[in-house]
Amino acid sequence: MGVHVARYTRAGKIEWGVVREGMAYAVPGDYTSLADFIERGKRIALELDIGADVAIDELNFMSPVTAPCNIICQGLNYGDHLAETGGNAEKPPFNLLFMKAPSSLSGPNDDIVRPRGVRLLDYELELGLVVGSPITKRTTVTRDNLIDYIAGIVISNDVSARDVQIPQGQWFKGKSFRTFCPTGPYLYLLDANDVERLHDLEIRLEVNGEMRQQSNTKQLLYGPAETLTELSGVMDLCPGDLIQTGTPGGVAVSAPSAAVQRVMRFVMNEKKLMKLFVKRQSENPKFLKDGDVLRLTMRSADGAIDLGVMETRVVAES
Ligand code: MG
Repeated sequence: MGVHVARYTRAGKIEWGVVREGMAYAVPGDYTSLADFIERGKRIALELDIGADVAIDELNFMSPVTAPCNIICQGLNYGDHLAETGGNAEKPPFNLLFMKAPSSLSGPNDDIVRPRGVRLLDYELELGLVVGSPITKRTTVTRDNLIDYIAGIVISNDVSARDVQIPQGQWFKGKSFRTFCPTGPYLYLLDANDVERLHDLEIRLEVNGEMRQQSNTKQLLYGPAETLTELSGVMDLCPGDLIQTGTPGGVAVSAPSAAVQRVMRFVMNEKKLMKLFVKRQSENPKFLKDGDVLRLTMRSADGAIDLGVMETRVVAES
């Protein structure tokens, strides 16, 4: 079995702890980053038996993923999400990859700050994979050796400003604002026996108590091994890097079918089309408003993996 760990502040000091049955057990040592914790603290955490403990409700959780790091994102990686954004629900011919700025990272209970002028603020529930060892050359990753490259998993939210992302065609900018990448509360350090569970996690997102996204990681179109194999042929990956694996259906934004979009593009230019898009979507009540509370969870059916509860509130930029 793997272990659940968290990064938090206690008495003004940052600590890593193993979380078990509502208590956190401090992992001895100071760790400057997630990469440092994976290198030196992970082994201690896996073997930690007893230690100084504290009830988890007394802790201020921080993002277990630390900047600087690469945040690599997969887009349109669940069939039902592809369909709601106007695409064909089948596996697309390529893995859609982009990045987010590491300064978008924030804690699992920190506020999501709606940037000035952004009206179409959206959520994306996503399983986050944390890279565990360096990948510096083309590498074949399979389900059998996945554990050699992925140290653990976290809940993440790929918060998106659709009125920047879509009309400007800038995914990086629309998804990189500060606080647009909450992660945590728990990082689950995987064990070789957990690989099947990783591919069968129940994932949920509620807004103000209303279920908006509910799916299972078995629905992923491009799985973790296939994606890592592909990325290894493109770029170097380092311990502590985060891969956001894409979101299931149920986000706020919606788009007409590809056929309708083709007709619309035929009758109006792109600028007009985007103006119409923003106007239509502004009337969509599913977009996040100041004061909304998001609750995200991920767990395996047997409860062996339970990544905790991420609860964040939306506030306006001051
Ligand atoms: Mg996403």
